[in-house]
Amino acid sequence: MAEKISWLSLSNDVLEDVTSYNEEYKDFLTKAKTERLAVKEIIRIAEANGFKDLEEAIKNGTKVKKGDKLYLNNKEKSVLMFVMGEKKLEEGLRIVGAHIDSPRLDLKPNPLYEASELGFLKTHYYGGVKKYQWTTIPLALHGVVYTKDLKRVDISIGEDDDDPVFTITDLLIHLSREQMQKKLAEGILGEQLNVLMGSIPLADDDDDEKADKSNRVKANVMRIISEKYGIEEDDFKVAEIEVVPAGKARDLGIDRSMIFSYGQDDRVCAFAGLKAILDMKQGEHTALAMFMDKEEVGSQGNTGMASYVLENALHELAALEGEYSALTVRRCLKNSWVLSADVTAAYDPNFDSVYEKNNTAVLGGGIAVAKYTGSGGKGGCNDANAEFLRDVRDIFDKAGVAWQTGELGRVDAGGGGTIAYLLSKYGAEVVDCGTAVLNMHAPNEVTSKFDTYMSYKAYKAFFE
Ligand code: MN
Ligand code: MN
Repeated sequence: MAEKISWLSLSNDVLEDVTSYNEEYKDFLTKAKTERLAVKEIIRIAEANGFKDLEEAIKNGTKVKKGDKLYLNNKEKSVLMFVMGEKKLEEGLRIVGAHIDSPRLDLKPNPLYEASELGFLKTHYYGGVKKYQWTTIPLALHGVVYTKDLKRVDISIGEDDDDPVFTITDLLIHLSREQMQKKLAEGILGEQLNVLMGSIPLADDDDDEKADKSNRVKANVMRIISEKYGIEEDDFKVAEIEVVPAGKARDLGIDRSMIFSYGQDDRVCAFAGLKAILDMKQGEHTALAMFMDKEEVGSQGNTGMASYVLENALHELAALEGEYSALTVRRCLKNSWVLSADVTAAYDPNFDSVYEKNNTAVLGGGIAVAKYTGSGGKGGCNDANAEFLRDVRDIFDKAGVAWQTGELGRVDAGGGGTIAYLLSKYGAEVVDCGTAVLNMHAPNEVTSKFDTYMSYKAYKAFFE
């Protein structure tokens, strides 16, 4: 048996690689706070590394050949990146599929209101959140708004050092006797996730006499937004604005061994997949890195994994490869190998009772391979085949990748799922394989720099 790969077994050269990889990763987290921002950053990096727009190739009927690098921008919310292999498409792909949406608060279509001379924005939470965690922290707004003359306006407030931030208030402890008796799930309710926006009323002489003299704080908030962005209140009805934790990704721990940031589920695997496809040596099989949207709400919608985006792209590629046949796509998917690249829970000694220690991933233990996910007796899970696990282990071991098993929690403690089942339906071999995270879905999540780097190494070896 080979020597166990751990922090202490890494040479100084590799330790330097670990550090520089994680500096880039933190930068990505800071820039890619939403799925739209992640797409923008992924495509910027892809183009800088020679990837060409698949839509252009389709338009021009450009034939594809070994070594070609292509990306598909799916509505600015999901991206596919291909590196064409030596073998034909029908021999299957090597796919690393991650998601770039994260739990957050979305603005409602009529968000702005005033209460007791304070201006607020109403939100509807997206994905699984513990609502109380989203109060009293600095928040930022990111998104896109369209004006009535069809102009697009990108909004981003709260990330620059001299930007203001926003917050959701919580009750002071002094008056919380009743609140503190409630269940955690009911301490803060969905309709209390209202974002505090302002407190100065609009001055009287700023307005005409017929104007509404109530809701002056709300009017002033809207005046400032209108002046800065040229949008009006009605435009919120056709906008997509997300409320996310403000601030940069940071090093965590006195030894700087960990990363503390919003959105690591699943941008940790997305970034590892991105770097892996950029750095990989030419492979026999076509490599595909997927960066999908909507995973946190069930992968539905035309930017999620349950859509036909992948199939459509493969039909196009098959046509550009040579003689088109739908059978090529069927065979391609059936013969594909997939790492469903999503995070899993890291063992947390503060909450020992929900884990089963022998089968849970630990922080710093390398990339976690989860044979199955699901809940209540593996319900709804993809359960990877032993033959595929054999091959994945062989790839990882030969490439010097530190890996561990990762079961989400003890039997019947809860559960969850990823995009794995959506790809296994084609007959592809699929296993969940990603980075272990502490306080998953909290406004700030924790990963180990060793694990983030090993995830990149694992995906790269898999592509090659
Ligand atoms: Mn995830
Ligand atoms: Mn998640």
